[in-house]
Amino acid sequence: MNEGAEIVVKKVAGHIPKGSIPKNPPKPKDHHHPHHHALSTYRLTREDISGGPVNLDQIEPGLWLGNVTAAADLPTLEKLAIRSVLTIDSCPLPAHVTENPGLRVKYIQASDVPREDLIKYFEETNKFIRDSLAEERNVLVHCYFGVSRSATIVIAYMMDKYRLSYEAALHRVKSRRRFVLPNPGFITQLKLFALMNYTIDPQNDRYKLFRLKLAADNVRKAKRLPVNCMDVVKPDPAVTQESPEPIVYRCRKCRRVVARKSNLLMHKPKPAGASGGHHSTSSPANGEEPVAQEPESEPPKDGLSYVTEHMRRSSIGSDHSHDRSSSEKDGMCRKIFFIEPLAWMTDIFHNTQGRLYCPKCTVKLGSFNWVMATKCPCGAEIYPAFYLVPSKAEYSTVVQNVQVTV
Ligand SMILES: [Zn+2]
Ligand SMILES: [Zn+2]
Repeated sequence: MNEGAEIVVKKVAGHIPKGSIPKNPPKPKDHHHPHHHALSTYRLTREDISGGPVNLDQIEPGLWLGNVTAAADLPTLEKLAIRSVLTIDSCPLPAHVTENPGLRVKYIQASDVPREDLIKYFEETNKFIRDSLAEERNVLVHCYFGVSRSATIVIAYMMDKYRLSYEAALHRVKSRRRFVLPNPGFITQLKLFALMNYTIDPQNDRYKLFRLKLAADNVRKAKRLPVNCMDVVKPDPAVTQESPEPIVYRCRKCRRVVARKSNLLMHKPKPAGASGGHHSTSSPANGEEPVAQEPESEPPKDGLSYVTEHMRRSSIGSDHSHDRSSSEKDGMCRKIFFIEPLAWMTDIFHNTQGRLYCPKCTVKLGSFNWVMATKCPCGAEIYPAFYLVPSKAEYSTVVQNVQVTV
């Protein structure tokens, strides 16, 4: 890697002034950020690359953000009294850094693509930075260029420390390093982090949707649910009753519990008059933050699956007795019960789409689709989708039904 660094240094001779971006930095291969097009001229292999000349900026006292060259350059680290190095990159740093007894290092393997899950590291990276600074160890957070991945980590830290919005934290970091630019997926994750009060709340609906879309993107690629995404499949509500919920959904035919209220993934109805075109599901019209997706990972636009076929003989629209306390007030669609994937849905683990059958009486309850957007009768397009149709599954409460499975 050091040899590679020297080669590039020759190409881009001279010191890069603070706050300016290297002229012709090579780019990691799989970067799709539109604003980075100017940077994607060079597609070098990992052996060739360096992040350009040493380039780092102090974001606040003791906290530095920079490129891989800075992180691998011991004289720079020594000069700036940097004794903690946080790497967010596709490769770890060379051994002269990682095995240096004077340095505390942490490595997170991540690519600079929107579907990369960085938010799951925010709590531990924030702690790493916080602990290091508390021990008066200066910290360098770096990725390849110090533009997207590591900037995201530093912004998450600033957001948490000062309770800032994404925009405010970005502004602060940019005032010290003006070309930081998290990719769209990372921006979504940072905003989600603020929404969850600077922590990870697995019960948060937006977080569930984020994880689910991430899992769906992976299913689209792998054609099955990868092991590292299994967490999106929640326990069978008929089996697990750690904290029983009064509101459940049951198979109308055999009364088996098939979902809990907390499994519902609500959406707002598509506003009347909005165009019914098959547009991207990643930009819902209701103002929710879309989970950014690479163009090639968006659901096929001609591949919408419709739930209307299930609706013809159902009494949707009149059967809204469930959950009256909130259904009228919150403005959420109740035409179809979109829910989280659940453990009883055995087909979802190895199929990209299919039907959902009651695990007890095998009647068809609904469908699922990991790979295509599903259009709700209200017009909203849901991706991925796991749903029960109200003619087959009904809302009921513990009070009404004493035979709750425990
Ligand atoms: Zn049944
Ligand atoms: Zn709907």
